[in-house]
Amino acid sequence: MAAEVFVLIGPPGAGKGTQAQMLSDGRGWTHLSSGDLLRAASDPQVLATMQQGELVDSATVESAVGRAIAAVPDDQPIVLDGFPREMGEAEWLDEALVKYGRSVTKVIKLTVDQDEVWNRLQERGRADDTPGSLSERWKEFEDQSLPVAEHYAELGLLTEIDGEGSPDDVAERIAEALA
Ligand code: AMP
Repeated sequence: MAAEVFVLIGPPGAGKGTQAQMLSDGRGWTHLSSGDLLRAASDPQVLATMQQGELVDSATVESAVGRAIAAVPDDQPIVLDGFPREMGEAEWLDEALVKYGRSVTKVIKLTVDQDEVWNRLQERGRADDTPGSLSERWKEFEDQSLPVAEHYAELGLLTEIDGEGSPDDVAERIAEALA
């Protein structure tokens, strides 16, 4: 049987990257972050879109994520962070995974309060973490990503986790949900 695929969904600053990395460090899963893959590709137009807090076009993200998934051995669990972020990407993922005999195993949605996120993002200090970009990305999340969470809820795969508190507290809640 092919290995699991876990998806982390949440608004900007919810801690998806931190938690995905903790799952990777703790369990040896492969962490694939669509944002990191796009930043690493260093296409000036893509980076400008990211800076504005807008979504990068799905074909570009799907091709980066598709290549990354293809490079993971079949028996290696994957944790996806930041992908899928809109319904078209979710449909693409469901189909793309079939090639590898995989399917989405579980989706964790991290919930956080917008004020808490703003404090976190100021500490992170990433170039695309400006007030304008944050409110744009928050809106994108509500408009585009909540339907993705709904899609996985209908499939019985979604668990909502409180993302407030320390990274260790949140990691513990996720571990309980995955037990
Ligand atoms: P992140 O590192 O997940 O916060 O993503 C940073 C930025 O990369 C986002 O604000 C988007 O511009 C872009 N991005 C990352 N993942 C996706 C995705 N799945 N679909 C479209 N754009 C994305």
